[in-house]
Amino acid sequence: MSDQNNFITHYSQLEGSIRSLMVGLFSGTCSMCTACCCRADICEEAIQSAFLSLLLEKQGLSEDKMDEKYGWLDLHGCSLQYGRPPICYTYYCDELLVRLPNDETQFAAKVLGNLIQHIGEQALGDWHLVEIRNSKDLVKLDYPTLFQRLEESTAALQVIQTFLESGRLTKADYEILNIIPIEEP
Ligand code: SF4
Ligand code: SF4
Repeated sequence: MSDQNNFITHYSQLEGSIRSLMVGLFSGTCSMCTACCCRADICEEAIQSAFLSLLLEKQGLSEDKMDEKYGWLDLHGCSLQYGRPPICYTYYCDELLVRLPNDETQFAAKVLGNLIQHIGEQALGDWHLVEIRNSKDLVKLDYPTLFQRLEESTAALQVIQTFLESGRLTKADYEILNIIPIEEP
């Protein structure tokens, strides 16, 4: 398997796990929301991005399947299992954050929302992985670095999963979580 295909496989698996955890944490609030923050122009980033387009292709999706007005949103929420633009994970409205019980949970949730963003930082010069539009550029990527970020995000996800069950973060846990930069959208 090529580096690119291997990376796509692991990235999509990790994104699926992140999405499941976020659904568990937030679907109650988001499903009641009348100010849904999804927008067709954000959805479009998935078809403009060479990398995300490959992830759409992997799940049998392409531009013609995207609704002009609602993008990838359907009655059940976002129809993308993976391949969502990173902002779909990094953005938290105030309503969402204030419902979390304490500062530690808010911190863990913010790290969780930045795991996808972290993987693709500076994938080609200053470009984030999802900003690359020409598929030919994907062979120029530094895959060892991308795999390292994937591992960092995977380790952080495991810490967050354990924290959500135990309610405790150790010093070692903080060291793993602090590797992930938190972007305030
Ligand atoms: S993140 Fe906030 S604005 Fe967006 S759907 Fe959820 S509750 Fe609504
Ligand atoms: S979560 Fe899905 S439907 Fe919402 S903006 Fe992102 S890609 Fe579009």
